[in-house]
Amino acid sequence: MVQENIAAVNRLKLQRLAKKLENNNFAVTLVETKEEAAAFIQGAIPEGSSVGVGGSVTLDELGLIDWLRQQPGIRFIDRYTMEDKKQAFRESMFADVYLMSSNAITMDGYLYNVDGNGNRVAALIYGPDQVYVIAGVNKVVRDLEDAKHRVEQIAGPVNNVRLNKDNPCVKLGECAHCNHATTICNQYVISRRSGTKGRIHVVLVNEELGY
Ligand code: SF4
Repeated sequence: MVQENIAAVNRLKLQRLAKKLENNNFAVTLVETKEEAAAFIQGAIPEGSSVGVGGSVTLDELGLIDWLRQQPGIRFIDRYTMEDKKQAFRESMFADVYLMSSNAITMDGYLYNVDGNGNRVAALIYGPDQVYVIAGVNKVVRDLEDAKHRVEQIAGPVNNVRLNKDNPCVKLGECAHCNHATTICNQYVISRRSGTKGRIHVVLVNEELGY
């Protein structure tokens, strides 16, 4: 019951956010579960497409990486198995479809992302004709100040732990605004609108996904 009550309130929040995102030219799909989100993406990618992905725990949790590897009709640019990562990132810029999550989404309907290499935010901004951003309700924040706070307190440190980086946040448990050569925080990108209507399609999921 507790979970149902939380889900009911979060649903209302996501419905308000969906309107703001649509107002900012993003296409939006609202789903309740990660299974629905995965099914939506699987149905949305046309046969014959090439697909690139940004580094994302959410995509893993949805099972989409494994699914992409098993589709004979899709050319998956598999950044995880390709020997030449730089080539994988470059090819992904020319993919038909790009899949990623977002570090945060504000209730104003802005996407907020922090990148190390910049390949993910580059593809988000320009390149693939269709970008799907899949985000759990835990990624939703009030405003850009809270988005920055979320990255400093959660996404930044936890991703550093995940990637086994020796940066100050893994010892402190929060961002220290480091200037280390190994930092994963080089590019800070706010996507205020989808320049081409619907090119960026946000899939909001009423469950917690990724970090
Ligand atoms: S700026 Fe440095 S300390 Fe802060 S989250 Fe990024 S890697 Fe960690």
